[in-house]
Amino acid sequence: MIKRSFKGGVHPLSRTHEGKQLTRNKAAVVFEPEYVCIPMNLHLGAPSEPCVKKGDIVKERQVIANPVGFLGLPIHASVSGEVTEVSEKQQLGPKKVMCITIKNDHLHTLEEPMEDIGTCETADPKKIVERIKAAGICGMGGAAFPLHVKLTIQDEKYADTIILNGAECETHLTSDFRTMLERSDDIVAGLRAIMRAMNCKHGIIAIEDNKPEAIEAMKKAAAGKEGITVRQLKTKYPQGSEKQLITVVTGREVPRGKLPIDCHVIVTNVATAAAVKSAVEDCRPLVRRVTTVTGKVKCPMNLLVPIGTNVHDLIEYCGGYDGEAAKLIAGGMMTGPAAPTDNFSITKAMGGIVVLDAKEAVAFEEGPCIRCARCVSVCPIGLNPAKMKQYCDANDMEGAKRNNVMDCIVCGCCSFTCPANRYLTASFKNMKDRITLASRLGGKK
Ligand code: SF4
Ligand code: SF4
Repeated sequence: MIKRSFKGGVHPLSRTHEGKQLTRNKAAVVFEPEYVCIPMNLHLGAPSEPCVKKGDIVKERQVIANPVGFLGLPIHASVSGEVTEVSEKQQLGPKKVMCITIKNDHLHTLEEPMEDIGTCETADPKKIVERIKAAGICGMGGAAFPLHVKLTIQDEKYADTIILNGAECETHLTSDFRTMLERSDDIVAGLRAIMRAMNCKHGIIAIEDNKPEAIEAMKKAAAGKEGITVRQLKTKYPQGSEKQLITVVTGREVPRGKLPIDCHVIVTNVATAAAVKSAVEDCRPLVRRVTTVTGKVKCPMNLLVPIGTNVHDLIEYCGGYDGEAAKLIAGGMMTGPAAPTDNFSITKAMGGIVVLDAKEAVAFEEGPCIRCARCVSVCPIGLNPAKMKQYCDANDMEGAKRNNVMDCIVCGCCSFTCPANRYLTASFKNMKDRITLASRLGGKK
């Protein structure tokens, strides 16, 4: 089989030691917390509006918050029990966010299932999209973009290919890998439902070649399913980045400033497809996910957890920290934000928690650029990070824009490879945030 790849990119760790070996053979274990604290900003867009109050008794899968705005999604109780708090709490990110805390009664009292709409092969296409929204499904690979919005295509645009991202190109994380092994039939069924919703003939499941077991499992599940193929990709970061994936898999380039749908492709994650199957056929909303807890914990694991589970509880369940933890990353090492504490909740898009010790987390001092151009050679977008950094350092928004900082996908490849330890990616993220804010404020800088 031809292994496909893209220009640029890096290998964050060596092939034999990429952190995944800590958990790749560990099947997801069910974890039941005493409390969940469910943030209202589980997805991109406006936070949902709580519709329960302190003292209410809720059932598992009951709607506890209503969608707000175009990107809005409902949020469901991930356990049954008593609402003990509806209040703002610090999660990841600079601002506090409204959260609903539920004391788990461990009874698993279930809300009535949603209406039966048929199977992934028979459901009405419109009802599939409505169900995906009602089930609160957003991209589970990290972006948390509401899936029903991706599937609601305007004008005369159309999709002819759905790509399921099973690359999981970040180091350490194996939650998608385990989902592909443990729910391969569900992933294929979910993909068929998305294809049906979009009247789309081709579905491609793209997986890096460091996951041969997943490739085999998905091929087996896809055998005989019309229009579905499994593609093997070279192991390279950021193979799972949306635009890179589209180019590698279809040969199409997403034009600058455009979306995947502009080249007739929709990309979503394998775990998201499994959630679609559960929503359509089993009439269940998205209330649990598999997440990897790994790195410097005593017993790294994959865990199937209710959304809103506290990370500290998960680390305790994994035997606690193995030595002194110096850094905790929510998500993968290349793109995940560093968390100041372990007191935050697992979200729908959080595929893992990586704990680093002082040796791994060492912060290097930024040196002057030696013009080696390594950053240019690894940038998967074809940008000139060294030049962009000059404009960022000079606080020159217009110059940074002219040098395409807004096209930066904040993948971290340039920072990873820079021998002078230039703070490249952090500068670009900061500049992008500032430009976005300035444009929201009507051009004020
Ligand atoms: S962080 Fe941005 S500039 Fe750096 S390699 Fe990635 S896309 Fe290119
Ligand atoms: S890799 Fe670092 S040192 Fe080399 S050109 Fe880029 S910014 Fe300069």
